[in-house]
Amino acid sequence: MTLEQPRRVGILGGGQLAMMLCEAASAIDLETIVLTPDSESQAAHWATQMIYADLDDEAAVAQLIELADVITYELEDIPLSTLKALTCAVVDGSAQVYPSPKTLAKLQNKGLQKHWLRNNHLATAPFYTLSGEAQADLAQANKLSLPLVQKAERGGYDGRGVQVLRSQSDLAELWPVASFLEPFVEHELELAVVVARSTTGEMRCFQPVHLIFDGDDNILDTVTSPANISDQVAADALALATRAITALDDAGVFAVEMFLTTTGELLINEISPRVHNAGHLTIEASAVSQFELQLRAVTGMALPETHSLHAAVMKNVLFSEPLTGLCDNDATIFANSTGDVVTHWYGKKGSKPKRKMGHITALADSPSRAAEKAEAGMLSLIKRAQEGAA
Ligand code: ADP
Repeated sequence: MTLEQPRRVGILGGGQLAMMLCEAASAIDLETIVLTPDSESQAAHWATQMIYADLDDEAAVAQLIELADVITYELEDIPLSTLKALTCAVVDGSAQVYPSPKTLAKLQNKGLQKHWLRNNHLATAPFYTLSGEAQADLAQANKLSLPLVQKAERGGYDGRGVQVLRSQSDLAELWPVASFLEPFVEHELELAVVVARSTTGEMRCFQPVHLIFDGDDNILDTVTSPANISDQVAADALALATRAITALDDAGVFAVEMFLTTTGELLINEISPRVHNAGHLTIEASAVSQFELQLRAVTGMALPETHSLHAAVMKNVLFSEPLTGLCDNDATIFANSTGDVVTHWYGKKGSKPKRKMGHITALADSPSRAAEKAEAGMLSLIKRAQEGAA
């Protein structure tokens, strides 16, 4: 470990978030070392060095600790054995790790996260722990009013590990896993505030964005900035997110997802200890991107202002059959990108339905105009895919 400004950033995970982190790192003269099991990792093009191994491969984690000045993550589902190795490295001074393994262990388990939110008096829906034992869990569920939402403690993302139970007969479908139940929160909309906190304690927030999920699968579909909420709700959302991340007392970028309930309350749904799909539009729409902020936050560099330069809408490009014609393209910003409609293509090979293949960010002087442009960008991408060219 060096006492100088850290310059070599180790990243656990090699998907599109790591790719965009590496891209941002090269622009501010930081080196990146990515550990991923994926031989077709999207990060490979931008990373200074790749280590191809499972995230719980002891020797590979040791190599990352050896090579990096500071280690961070692109995903929260880091194996517990790796978190233990990172904790030891922090204790013996051989690595700096942000967010800390302790924070990751707390947030990657949705049950522990809910307890932490409640213990810190951060507004969140009530919850009832289920052990995974079918009889006892059914008895617990029967005491509660429907509709309910069951959430697995570990391993869920993009809506996997979350199910809505609307009727008595749905209760027969309870998953027999360590999980919890929440009442279904009737909400006006879902918001996210992306917050950066540096190793020095300096903090920056992006303005609240509106999240729209794909109805069937709960995969994020569209993000709008700014969210169409009152100044008061925006200020309250920023205050709640700031309070949560101050309580975490750690460094990195965090996405605080919230419900604005039909009764006007803000409830934290979950906090992700990493750059987030809700913040992709900051690449073009803000004075600094969430990716650069994460790198600055974990290396202790000053955090620039985060103000918006434009209204923006980001749409995820989820795989569907018509996109097959584009799947041979490498990661790129497509040639059909214009100054105000930018298509990011992650370069994932062969694909399964609804996989995130890329995203489109459209900029305008109003969110509604940005939405129109994003929609047109999506249609033009599909048309190009059908023509078999980017
Ligand atoms: P993931 O970590 O997979 O994104 P979340 O816990 O964020 O899982 O849940 C996914 C989506 O399910 C949320 O964005 C929201 O749309 C819906 N959801 C989750 N919990 C509730 C709830 N208690 N009430 C209503 N909708 C919910």
